[in-house]
Amino acid sequence: MKFSEFNLKKEIIDTLKEIGFEKPSTIQEEAIPVILEGKDVVAQAQTGTGKTAAFALPLISVIKPTQKALIITPTRELAIQISEEIYRFGKKLKIHTATVYGGSSYNRQIKQIKNSQFIVATPGRLLDLLKSKKIEIKPEYVVLDEADEMLDMGFLDDIKEIFKFIPHKRQTLLFSATMPNLIKELSKQILKNPEFIEVARGQMTNKNIKEYFYVIDENERKDALVRLIDYKNPQKAIIFCRTKKNVDEVSEFLKGMGFNAKALHGDMAQRKREEVIKAFKNDKVEFLVATDVVARGIDVNNVTHVFNYHLPLDVDSYVHRIGRTGRAGKRGIAISLVTPHEFRVLNKIKKVAKLTLKEIPTSEDIKDIEIKKIIRALKEIEADAKSIKIIEELQNKYDLFTIATKFASFLFKEKSKKIGKSIKEVQKLIKRDQKFKKAI
Ligand code: ADP
Ligand code: MG
Repeated sequence: MKFSEFNLKKEIIDTLKEIGFEKPSTIQEEAIPVILEGKDVVAQAQTGTGKTAAFALPLISVIKPTQKALIITPTRELAIQISEEIYRFGKKLKIHTATVYGGSSYNRQIKQIKNSQFIVATPGRLLDLLKSKKIEIKPEYVVLDEADEMLDMGFLDDIKEIFKFIPHKRQTLLFSATMPNLIKELSKQILKNPEFIEVARGQMTNKNIKEYFYVIDENERKDALVRLIDYKNPQKAIIFCRTKKNVDEVSEFLKGMGFNAKALHGDMAQRKREEVIKAFKNDKVEFLVATDVVARGIDVNNVTHVFNYHLPLDVDSYVHRIGRTGRAGKRGIAISLVTPHEFRVLNKIKKVAKLTLKEIPTSEDIKDIEIKKIIRALKEIEADAKSIKIIEELQNKYDLFTIATKFASFLFKEKSKKIGKSIKEVQKLIKRDQKFKKAI
């Protein structure tokens, strides 16, 4: 199927070509025609499958200059992201968007709301504006995006209240990665005869993501993490921790080991959070250490690995976390560190996801990888004049083998200084691994 087969405006089809969207994803294929018909829709599809475009493209196509579409989404980060996406899709149609979230100027947002067809808002600030009568909106289209996230974040009552301010005559769309009962109930209250679209029943997680878990002891988390990073050599990874304190600890620890890591959690100022996400998006940061809440739904391209430093407390969070990788048809790897205390939740997760047990790589494994990395790097590097001169001079003193060995040792010394783990301890770890493997 092609985008040109939908009844979308030509400008949109052209834009999609330009930005490299070759064909619609399954949820887009199923939802776009129904939305274009004007029907209410409840759509469920796993994360990273293009739900934003599934509602944005048809709405951009049908919206009239005098009409308004309201999109409600759980976090500021998501609101910004969706706004940018709509702007990108609607560029040729001169679509304007207002992004509405807490912690930023009221006046500017109110002005933007007046002048824009699309309003992308977080529930808190939106309700605040509506209740204080600072704005009055009569949207013809309303989208609840990432509805399950909003439920998790405690926005259910806010959302119900928001709908008291919105005229009944409208088209309403609800998008969600999972469909808890409370969301189903909500959809009955606010949607009219919705069409239900569900993609990927059964296996809930994305098949482009390989999921592994490693059994460890509580005090081994940090070492296991570093060893796995060394072994897997991720280009861009998110490391999820349970608490803000863990996030700070782990990011400091990784920085101490020489990794390019940054923390992201809710106690940080909004500006700082945006800065960190931007740096991560632009490949300036390799490891984002985050709590669930702030990293929810963020769409960063090319995240190669997701690490669960701790398992999340429930299955849906797991699905959302690992959905940060393997996006838009790319491959991803999800790695969870699990202690015996977490086996209960692990077993729950195993019901929806195909997790494979693996062993923590030993120092030897890491060395093998290291050598492969070096061979690859050596192949690519060209000898420069200065280095040739240094080697020529050294040759007066040592033979070539000695020179090469000394250089290699010099290189490794820096690294092993940082890891500083004895082989004995590694062996202990492996033994424990095997013991647990039998236990589960
Ligand atoms: P979801 O909301 O389902 O988690 P998003 O809407 O955030 O997923 O989309 C994930 C990524 O996939 C985004 O970077 C988006 O631009 C990209 N994407 C969406 N649809 C397509 C498509 N048809 N072709 C290529 N990339 C797409
Ligand atoms: Mg989304």
